[in-house]
Amino acid sequence: MDSGEERRAARSRELWERARQLLPGGVSSPVRAFAAVGGTPRFIDRAKGPYVTDVDGIRYVDYVMAWGPLILGHAHPAVVQAVQRQAEQGTAYGAPTEVELALAEAITAAMPSMERVRFVNSGTEAAMSALRLARAFTGRDKIVKFAGCYHGHADSLLVEAGSGVLTLGLPGSPGVTAGAAADTWVLPYNDVAAVEELFARHGEEIAAVIVEPIAGNMGVVPPDPGFLPALRRLTREAGALLIFDEVITGFRVGLGGAQGLLGIVPDLTCLGKIIGGGLPVGAYGGRADIMERVAPAGPVYQAGTLSGNPLAMAAGLATLEVVSQPGTYERLERQAARLAEGLLAEARAQDVPYCVQRVGSMWTGFFHPGPLRNLEEVRRSDTAFYARYFHGMLREGVYLPPSAFEAAFVSLAHTDQDIEFTVEAHARALRRARQ
Ligand code: PMP
Repeated sequence: MDSGEERRAARSRELWERARQLLPGGVSSPVRAFAAVGGTPRFIDRAKGPYVTDVDGIRYVDYVMAWGPLILGHAHPAVVQAVQRQAEQGTAYGAPTEVELALAEAITAAMPSMERVRFVNSGTEAAMSALRLARAFTGRDKIVKFAGCYHGHADSLLVEAGSGVLTLGLPGSPGVTAGAAADTWVLPYNDVAAVEELFARHGEEIAAVIVEPIAGNMGVVPPDPGFLPALRRLTREAGALLIFDEVITGFRVGLGGAQGLLGIVPDLTCLGKIIGGGLPVGAYGGRADIMERVAPAGPVYQAGTLSGNPLAMAAGLATLEVVSQPGTYERLERQAARLAEGLLAEARAQDVPYCVQRVGSMWTGFFHPGPLRNLEEVRRSDTAFYARYFHGMLREGVYLPPSAFEAAFVSLAHTDQDIEFTVEAHARALRRARQ
């Protein structure tokens, strides 16, 4: 960690002292606490476009982007206006609205596998509810997930999870019952043989396989070409459901999400992040015959006071309207490719083992030659180097995820100049981290 940089963050340090007295670990969600990289988390005061500004008035080019929702950048005028307009009309009614219907229509148009959509308040709720539904629909208990994938913090999914569970080096979590954990089978990502073997022995017990079709929560790990087709085939043959957790990838890697990009149709899909435009949201949906089991259409209970909240629906709808314009994903691809090429070229020039794993605008730079195909391999990347590099980047004015095992995001607001600035910062941060 960099003491000069820490000195500049005087106001953040003051707030951090206070926060730790009151909020567990000083935060409302673990990775924000900088536990993996050390030092003082920056308290953010405001943000616009690709930039966040902290309470000490220091501006950073942001690649965390609220962990994925802000594909348009911060405070995009269309989103701000939609939220303002909705707020004036009321913030919640606990009754159906046209805006939630419009958002559901936009989602199903982009992702036709989502024949029915239920809105919830977070990705956690989406995954938790999708699993309950899968168990009810199949009459089976067992769930298969992959090590390093994160699907929120519902009990049965907090087993060898990614994101903060991984960053903090936790095997799972105390408080999860042996029963909840026993119903979850965990396999290595991209390991078709392991999935085949499990299905051969226990296929009839399996309610669902849940997967990040492009993993983001151990850092970005793309699926091998045969992995998702094998999951589709094996689940179908065994009468189990395939659930794509597209909380990150939905509207991120293309309008049709990972399923559109890769041409695989899941039974159920979980969404969050982008479909709420930066407000709290989640959704799950899929085949009509399955979704019609959800209450009140069917017996599987799931509800929420603020579900389909009109502010979130309005922000999400405004976001989807912008990303639906032609050229969006081409621009994201171009900017992210430029960034990745710049970062790689500089690492090569300095002889630093480094790879960028990327699908469209979601990416992770690992300090390892790569490629890294699963959690075990991802763990071989140099996290101590990442921590030094992270602080070097912060000092240079670039805000990266405070963990080596998270996805970073390029938004539509990142300009060529922002990318050049980032690559130059990276060159200096690498030099310092090597010292
Ligand atoms: N699934 C995936 C793939 C995620 O990345 C996340 C959160 N990053 C979640 C589920 C949980 O979403 P939330 O944090 O909104 O509960």
